[in-house]
Amino acid sequence: MKQVTIISGKGGTGKTSITAALAANQGNAIFTDCDVDAADLYLLLTPNIQKTHTFPGAPIAQIDQQKCTSCGICESLCRFDAIQQKDGVFQVVEFNCEGCKLCMHACPANAISMQQPENSEWYESDTRFGPMIHAHLGIGEDLSGKLVSQLRERAREVAKERNAGLILTDGPPGVGCPVIASITGADLGVVITEPTMSGLNDLKRVVDLAEYFHIPLKVVVNKYDLNKSMTDKIEKYCQESNLELIARIPYDKIFLEAMVEQKTLSEYAPENSINDIIQDIHKAIQ
Ligand code: SF4
Ligand code: SF4
Repeated sequence: MKQVTIISGKGGTGKTSITAALAANQGNAIFTDCDVDAADLYLLLTPNIQKTHTFPGAPIAQIDQQKCTSCGICESLCRFDAIQQKDGVFQVVEFNCEGCKLCMHACPANAISMQQPENSEWYESDTRFGPMIHAHLGIGEDLSGKLVSQLRERAREVAKERNAGLILTDGPPGVGCPVIASITGADLGVVITEPTMSGLNDLKRVVDLAEYFHIPLKVVVNKYDLNKSMTDKIEKYCQESNLELIARIPYDKIFLEAMVEQKTLSEYAPENSINDIIQDIHKAIQ
């Protein structure tokens, strides 16, 4: 069983549309949406949820006002300004709390406990192309890396149960913690970039990250014809960096139209020539 993660240096490169187009070409695969901060693969694969799991968020301090003696120790110790006094009442500002537990241990009245919100969920679903593991991250939650690891772990289990040959993952954009969680242990990363200066710079950052984790990469330039000279620069960078540029996809509003119809490219426009490019990407991944 192989694991392939589709990533991009930033959002808006067409990563999810291309992932969905590839999903439609796969047989015997598991699909994972690890872009948990802005999950949208579900729009195209329209999963039918079979199992729902709650995902505990980061612990947040909570003050029992019945026990609190208003000594103010917690407020003076919290370096994140997460405990504030208002009208003589000490309260936790939840968005500021980093869950370090210092206040809990320091409170002489034993009035502080840690609570784990349960406003994130992850799902095991069926789609018309195969099983899908995906999630909904609660508002304000920042444990996306941990949630990504949870999704990938379950995807590997399902792949084993179903004897699937591939886990195809829609990864998050950027180079942060969720991206690291999405590519760790992957057999291949496919970077979707676009022909802009920021696209090239973001590609370089992703390449540095993947090198650090020893993940082989291949590159796709989406909307390459919007700036051909920049596409040439990206191609030159790939050559100098020993990276295989496996496809150039022209700009086509067909991807947007397909998304509006909740269809993959091959379903919405089977005659469109970009389907041949998707096949080339599929073969390069194989
Ligand atoms: S340290 Fe404990 S008792 Fe003191 S203000 Fe904070 S919660 Fe109240
Ligand atoms: S857990 Fe840490 S960050 Fe949160 S309120 Fe207590 S001291 Fe501040």
